[in-house]
Amino acid sequence: MKKYILALDEGTTSARAILFDKNMNVVSIAQNEFPQIFPKPGWVEQNPLEIYASQYAAMTECVALSGAAPEEIAAVGITNQRETTIVWEKSTGRPVFNAIVWQCRRTAGICEKLEEAGLADKIAEKTGLKIDAYFSGTKIKWILDNVEGAREKAEAGELLFGTVDTWLMWKLSSGRIHLTDHTNASRTMLYNLRTGDWDEELLKILGIPRSMLPGIAPSGHLYGNIDFLGVSLPVCGVAGDQQSALFGQCCFAPGEMKNTYGTGCFLLANTGSDIVRSKSGLITTVAATLDGEAREYALEGSVFVGGAVIKWLRDSMKLIDEAHDSEYFARKIKDTGGVYMVPAFSGLGAPYWDMHAQGTIVGVTGGTGRAHIIRAALESIAYQTEDVIRSVSSDMDKPPVSLKVDGGASANGFLMQFQADISGLDVVRADMKEATAAGAAYLAGLTCGFFKDREEIKALASAAKIFSPEMDNDTRKQKLDGWHRAIKACRAY
Ligand code: ADP
Repeated sequence: MKKYILALDEGTTSARAILFDKNMNVVSIAQNEFPQIFPKPGWVEQNPLEIYASQYAAMTECVALSGAAPEEIAAVGITNQRETTIVWEKSTGRPVFNAIVWQCRRTAGICEKLEEAGLADKIAEKTGLKIDAYFSGTKIKWILDNVEGAREKAEAGELLFGTVDTWLMWKLSSGRIHLTDHTNASRTMLYNLRTGDWDEELLKILGIPRSMLPGIAPSGHLYGNIDFLGVSLPVCGVAGDQQSALFGQCCFAPGEMKNTYGTGCFLLANTGSDIVRSKSGLITTVAATLDGEAREYALEGSVFVGGAVIKWLRDSMKLIDEAHDSEYFARKIKDTGGVYMVPAFSGLGAPYWDMHAQGTIVGVTGGTGRAHIIRAALESIAYQTEDVIRSVSSDMDKPPVSLKVDGGASANGFLMQFQADISGLDVVRADMKEATAAGAAYLAGLTCGFFKDREEIKALASAAKIFSPEMDNDTRKQKLDGWHRAIKACRAY
């Protein structure tokens, strides 16, 4: 009797495993952090064997804590940090270099050369992405160019590439599975959105042999079996973390969108089977779908500093002791007294893409106090999200109707209400705290028949708190005007 789905949630700083039952209750959870390696400013690496070991330990501990028998697990779903790049030897399974993490800027120079060669439009047209060091393609090139003997071995078909999903499946299956899903593939800058396959021209431009690349499958698909505690478990779901959260939030229809309020904010809006090209600073990416379904797409906008501004108030400014204290201070006053904070600590992301912008506080007077600054910081998270929502609205024919939310800072009721007010949308916070892992579990469960259909899943996820807009239009407009003047001031400086 199959009673559970095991979700592996391999994040940037830790590997987690969660066992869900038929009603999506969390039966058990285990988490292991792994080290980050910073060889130079702006460079970020991880040891692929540590990623694998942390994930294996987390899944073993998770099942041990639950008391479940491995035979009772119907299927495994995997969700992962996106873009992080691993290259290993086919015959030994040994990585030829550390994993180059998505945040790593070492390939900025390669990206500049691509820009100078006038490839921005071609790459955007094929991949839906802006040329950036963030994506995997230039990271693979860097490894082939800089690791001794790597290029020769790659050309002889002796090396394999994978994002973290691919690496984990390959290790857990003793090298039987070398596959990825469309959502992860769409973050490599090597994947053609239209054909749904690796793009020969881009592979040639970056000098990457096709033999290194994994096969590509739908997110809900039987990828193969992995060996775990004496049983053979099918992997039936794979998706990059943000796409997994979109699925976990049941954003199945065009116009449905979710925002994850973590360190940064990641907003994805489902655009159905339309490949929408953004005219307002968003990127186009693939949304998770199941075997046999038409491929679907999403628009994505990321805000670099979201919850991190609250961490900054706590750790650097010492204005609060705990992140949740920000809500208490924000509610003590009726508004910020005209103060706006633009937390452009590392430039501004979507829709501005201004790498030179720096953090700015405007509108300060003698009457400005601690609570005003704290409230302005919280409001900045909502304003930045609103700018991304406006981009989504202008890129899509049908304006979005509601915003589903998750992530650490979505626990803040003040912030959620302010988001509803400033965006004029219902903000829907599900009870399910684990939207990212839930997405992988849903994909795996739907594929293996553990869950019947999307309707069953929607019913499981229905209990939610809804924040509805209460602000009048004039106040909203006035506040947004102030915010956009603050953005102007920040960028002018
Ligand atoms: P990540 O997955 O990016 O590490 P989390 O989803 O765990 O992030 O969210 C943590 C972030 O949310 C931190 O930056 C923290 O400052 C912020 N945060 C956590 N709780 C609150 C809260 N109650 N109010 C505002 N921000 C919060």
